[in-house]
Amino acid sequence: MNIAIDGPAGAGKSTIARLAAKELDFIYVDTGAMYRAIALYLLDSHIDLEDEKAIKDSLPAVNINILYTGGVQHVFLNLQDVSAEIRSEKVGNAASKTSKLQCVRDKLLSLQREIAAKNDVIMDGRDIGTNILPNAELKIYLTASSDVRAKRRYDELKLSGEWPDYEKIKKDIEARDYADMNREIAPLKQAEDAVLIDSSEMSISEVVDTIVDLAKERR
Ligand code: C5P
Repeated sequence: MNIAIDGPAGAGKSTIARLAAKELDFIYVDTGAMYRAIALYLLDSHIDLEDEKAIKDSLPAVNINILYTGGVQHVFLNLQDVSAEIRSEKVGNAASKTSKLQCVRDKLLSLQREIAAKNDVIMDGRDIGTNILPNAELKIYLTASSDVRAKRRYDELKLSGEWPDYEKIKKDIEARDYADMNREIAPLKQAEDAVLIDSSEMSISEVVDTIVDLAKERR
């Protein structure tokens, strides 16, 4: 069974998908991490993120592998585990810029479909229900207001010992939404047959329960 969860940055997709996957005994596939790993490579290689040709030329040297240990996804970039490194705002913003390129999306499409074909998965991203897994048995579009999403990200960074700037976080989130929703290739949008969940006023467990119940109904 395939479950697709799409939605804007900071809607809680990864937290919720991880918990729902645990309850259903599915594999959680975080496709954003794959885009982030490519962005990390480009940043580390000092490749201009606006230079499509340079990016395309560099991609054959990029090897992304996904490994699961105890249900937790680890992303390897050229055999190095970069799961922690890719979580920074810098890498997230770079991923949002480079994910609009066809060459970058093509690189990840077959990897994502292959994992879904072989396993029961909950896969989250931006174009999973619309493009990667159009036949998924359950599609969710998970969103929340930009204020709520910025506040959640702010709290998360504060907990990890940083001194975040709320206004900047909110601006970054809105810029990423705009870029993800308005790009030409595989833009973020709700699939026609997706169930819309607005988590602004919901607890994590309420959202997880809703998804798990829907999954059980459709299994
Ligand atoms: O979900 P996350 O914030 O980790 O994703 C980072 C960036 O990767 C997003 O802003 C988006 O531009 C891109 N992405 C995408 N398609 C996906 C998953 C992520 O374009 N399926």
